[in-house]
Amino acid sequence: MQISRSKVAIVGAGNVGSTFAFSLMISGVAREIVLIDSNQERAKGECMDLSHGASFVQPVNIYSAGYEGCQEADVVVITAGAKQKPGQSRIDLVQTNAEIFKGIIPKIAKYAKDAILLVVSNPMDILTYITLKISGLPSNKVMGSGTVLDSSRFRYLISEHCHLDPRNVHAYIIGEHGDTELPVWSHANIGGIVLAKYCPVCDGHCDYKKELGAIFEEVKNSAYKIIEAKGATYYAIGLALARIVESMLRDENSVLPISTLINDYYGINDVCLSIPSVINRNGVERVLRFELSGLEQGQLRHSAMTLKDIIKEIKL
Ligand code: NAD
Repeated sequence: MQISRSKVAIVGAGNVGSTFAFSLMISGVAREIVLIDSNQERAKGECMDLSHGASFVQPVNIYSAGYEGCQEADVVVITAGAKQKPGQSRIDLVQTNAEIFKGIIPKIAKYAKDAILLVVSNPMDILTYITLKISGLPSNKVMGSGTVLDSSRFRYLISEHCHLDPRNVHAYIIGEHGDTELPVWSHANIGGIVLAKYCPVCDGHCDYKKELGAIFEEVKNSAYKIIEAKGATYYAIGLALARIVESMLRDENSVLPISTLINDYYGINDVCLSIPSVINRNGVERVLRFELSGLEQGQLRHSAMTLKDIIKEIKL
């Protein structure tokens, strides 16, 4: 266990990067947090603001730097780039953010020799694939934040509807972090009882098939609604990133639906998307091979094809 010397570099000190730094600081899992941004003043200001809370948390050194700050990092989290404007999809950001990644990944790779790279910027699955190709790192060392956030939204909304603790709702969104993502209803369960069995006997007397469909639509459209209302999403993703990074630094072997290189999976090959995977100090230890219904398999293949079609258009 190397918790005492864990270092996390965050490239992109905007809404998501700085909120993640705040969550990580509170978690106590990192000893060193470095913020890197092309807007150096922003990075410096965020570090000052965060550091002024140092007397309330476990010892942590927070500072801003250039890319040399990635040296000896255990994890580099990449949140740099353009964000969605109201009405824009994540895919609409592809050209702008692919160009930004072509510039920053070699700089990160130059200094962060042994780090795990965690991609957050959108379109996250495509940028994870680009990061993998440009960095030349093995696939276990490069992952995207995946549908960890989407799955958390899903669990929360089911829990609200059923008046239960979200921690007792076990349900995954998989595929693209975006418009083609899909819910894995066949495995969704409450306290070990699959929803197909739980819902008919619960006292709620709701039209559960209709309600569950509406819950998934709400999950899929959450980011659009939040961006329309306040311009960006950052609190829940900040917590989701802290959870992913903790599972690496504490070598937890946690199952999380991160985005990773998928091969030989229901006919899907050579694309990054989200499937529940085991995460530890090595990064992605393995992808879980779970049994999907015929409908879910088709939806997953559609999600993969959508991503692959976009990747084909990008010149690396
Ligand atoms: P933001 O505009 O607040 O921050 C982006 C930061 O990136 C800015 O500080 C900017 O200066 C910096 N930046 C831009 N180009 C750079 C470069 N070449 N080198 C270094 N820094 C650079 O945006 P945000 O709200 O923090 O969102 C960041 C990204 O995260 C967006 O792409 C957004 O869509 C994505 N996001 C992903 C998820 C997810 O679940 N994966 C959730 C929310 C947001």
